[in-house]
Amino acid sequence: MQLGLDSKRALVTGASRGLGRAVAGALCDEGASVAVCARDEARLAKVAAEIGATAFAADLTPKGASARLAQDVIARLGGVDVLVVNTGGPPVGTFEAVDDLAWEGAVDSLFLSAVGLVRACLPGMRAQRWGRILIVTSVAALEPHPGLILSNAIRPALHGLVNALSREVAADGITVNALLPGFTATERLQEIGVGDDQVASQVPAGRMGRPEEFAALAAFLASEPAAYITGQAIACDGGLLRSI
Ligand code: NAD
Repeated sequence: MQLGLDSKRALVTGASRGLGRAVAGALCDEGASVAVCARDEARLAKVAAEIGATAFAADLTPKGASARLAQDVIARLGGVDVLVVNTGGPPVGTFEAVDDLAWEGAVDSLFLSAVGLVRACLPGMRAQRWGRILIVTSVAALEPHPGLILSNAIRPALHGLVNALSREVAADGITVNALLPGFTATERLQEIGVGDDQVASQVPAGRMGRPEEFAALAAFLASEPAAYITGQAIACDGGLLRSI
């Protein structure tokens, strides 16, 4: 299948490792011009060199940071055709363990950063009547996980944004979808001590996902042939979600 991404310009955030890095790599492999963003400048520069992308170091949590990043990328690449919104997961904790400051931080990093990126990239996509917006959320947005109150509560708001925005921009050739990773083998999961043996019994596929499997879904949704898929929340989870 021809994905038609070789002339496209993409911005992938949270791309110094894990899912973001895999998605950026897949888009580079398809011939797209890819801008990658993350906080750690040295690490990001190394990743960018490895996959053939351009590095834009930034922390997307402070107010206005995501819009500034997108404007810098648009100025350098001449536009953004494919926007992949991805950031680190918010702190873990139950409701009683999380204070107002943590709620504000999670809203800024997970939700408002996405709004800023979309707001900055949308006018160019509308003008050229082509665009792909992918927002990485989590299976926890559909079926809450114990002890992840911030993720459980804030990510569903992104699904509301995806569905409502998709309707506003569909006639301009722009698709907007949410991608929901299930347990996927990234450094983040290693850091929080989740191993293959722990997930094997919970996941029908009997193993963790690989970042490349998630990236393949993202590359397809970013592609020309995916033009009629919009407003969806699509999981890559080995059958974990039970809801119909
Ligand atoms: P990760 O922690 O390995 O990578 C996150 C990336 O985002 C890194 O490049 C990091 O530098 C960057 N980042 C974090 N905060 C940032 C900020 N404020 N500004 C700019 N960049 C920032 O995470 P991952 O495992 O690749 O997961 C990516 C997303 O998917 C996260 O939101 C995570 O919660 C979610 N998710 C992951 C899984 C999984 O199993 N890996 C499952 C469900 C949901």
